[in-house]
Amino acid sequence: MGRDERGVTPQSEDFSAWYNELVAKAQLVDRGPAKGTMVIRPYGYRLWELLQGELDWRIKDTGHENAYFPLLIPESYLQREAQHVEGFSPELAVVTHAGGKELEEPLIVRPTSETIIGEMMAKWISSHRDLPLLLNQWANVVRWEMRPRMFLRTTEFLWQEGHTAHADRDDAMRETMLALDLYAEVARDIAALPVVPGEKTAGERFAGAERTFTIEAMMRDGKALQAGTSHYMGTNFAEAFDIRYTAETGRQETCHTTSWGMSTRMIGGVIMTHGDDKGLVLPPRLAPHQVVIVPIGRGDEVPAAARDLAGRLRAAGVRVHVDDRAHLSPGYRFNDWELRGVPVRLELGPRDLESGTVVMVKRLGDEGKQPIPLDSSAEVLPGVLDDFQAFLLRRATEFRDAHTRAAGDWGSFTDAVASGWALAPHCGEPACEGDIKAETGATPRCVPLDGAAETGVCVRCGRPAAYGKRVVFGRSY
Ligand SMILES: [Zn+2]
Repeated sequence: MGRDERGVTPQSEDFSAWYNELVAKAQLVDRGPAKGTMVIRPYGYRLWELLQGELDWRIKDTGHENAYFPLLIPESYLQREAQHVEGFSPELAVVTHAGGKELEEPLIVRPTSETIIGEMMAKWISSHRDLPLLLNQWANVVRWEMRPRMFLRTTEFLWQEGHTAHADRDDAMRETMLALDLYAEVARDIAALPVVPGEKTAGERFAGAERTFTIEAMMRDGKALQAGTSHYMGTNFAEAFDIRYTAETGRQETCHTTSWGMSTRMIGGVIMTHGDDKGLVLPPRLAPHQVVIVPIGRGDEVPAAARDLAGRLRAAGVRVHVDDRAHLSPGYRFNDWELRGVPVRLELGPRDLESGTVVMVKRLGDEGKQPIPLDSSAEVLPGVLDDFQAFLLRRATEFRDAHTRAAGDWGSFTDAVASGWALAPHCGEPACEGDIKAETGATPRCVPLDGAAETGVCVRCGRPAAYGKRVVFGRSY
């Protein structure tokens, strides 16, 4: 079978070409005119909205409130937290001129909002009664990107950033883990990504954080993608921004803060976890169209029946689209929706109508074309979509497990990270992490929360292993 102009390079030939071609041909994104920027097209934006919706109600349900803070931040704010400014300065976009003249103080286009939100928290918190303060912001941020990749690393991206302030360490740590749980739930139940929740090692921590937690997903090329992070800041930002409160005892205390974010990068994760040589494969819970009906043949009868079927599916809670582009052949339309990852296609022609059936074709699986009764299709399809969602999670979990190996010695470690992840004992020394990265390209992705207790020696240097459990290593995006 030849590749037509809509086909994509096979994954096995060049995974990165596959990805770059697919995001464009599936009409998710286009390149922006400024280096590293991304135009999110309607199909891609709908995906984001669906993910956003799932995350947003969970954030609100757990007591957080949405707010919005300015895009421009005085440069001096970033300098107040030393590690934070050091970590972010290579990526900053700085506004030096505005209104036709040079500004007295340059403004930073936010790379993240800890500083400006910290400043406001200091203003809004005075007593223990003001705590915890649980904020979330949906926003765009800018981090200058030298090696842009659509969704994965772009100069400007969309995300949510949670920012909270607490009376003490325990409450702030509970919050940090709560946010991580929300992310793991959305990744697993909505995006069908079997993520590994864990803690980052010191070398991989967020700039200014005391502890950083992550969910790590495995892509179909065996690389890891950090799909969401949650940080316990200790009192670092609270001290820099003077976020303090009067305790019940009357004493002045310093708040403990957290921040946590999930971004449009998740869409890249969905594409690289589920997609195949035919194109995208979207989990039904994120698919802009869960079902596409393709009416075949001339005349009015079939399109009318297709619209009627769509109405009944919509009433059953299914996101359905009728592809009535009669000027395009059925084959062209079938391929198009396969490329764009629609979970289920329904083909409806005059003969089907006569026999009271519609032909169902799933995006994956070997059942082929299955006729189902038109009358009962609205009852059948929600279950089909649930099964498809579960199948994707199962398949991704099996793939991840098949590409994750326990590695106790250097030989098996290098083998494992060549095609997937290694679970290895590690000393925790940044210099040793650096050696591993230089030799294999792999970095510590996380110390998994549910890892079994184990002692041993570092897979690279032979010193005693840290953390009391094995570390997940892999190459990453
Ligand atoms: Zn070591």
